[in-house]
Amino acid sequence: MHELSLAENVIRIVEAAAQQARARRISRVRLGVGALAHVEAETLQFCCGLAARQTMLADAVFEVERMPGRAHCNGCGQDVALERIGLPCPQCGGFDLLVTAGEEMQVLEIVVA
Ligand SMILES: [Zn+2]
Repeated sequence: MHELSLAENVIRIVEAAAQQARARRISRVRLGVGALAHVEAETLQFCCGLAARQTMLADAVFEVERMPGRAHCNGCGQDVALERIGLPCPQCGGFDLLVTAGEEMQVLEIVVA
């Protein structure tokens, strides 16, 4: 499952950050997922819980926020908001879009217990 490998990455990133900060336990992790990232927020949340077992994140609460997608339209030259891949440019209706944001996943915040 795609989300499970993402979740394992999240755990690794947070553990590395926590070790640098000399934290022992993590109580909350806030994640941002781009609207175009092909990631189900609920599934990612669930998988983070699974991947966190027997780590310093075992008791952590995972929050997943959706971040809007953006694209540059080669048709009309505007930067536009994009809900999902496959939709036309909301300005001119063209499909010649270059995604500029919304495909990434980020760890936004780590709260130490
Ligand atoms: Zn356009």
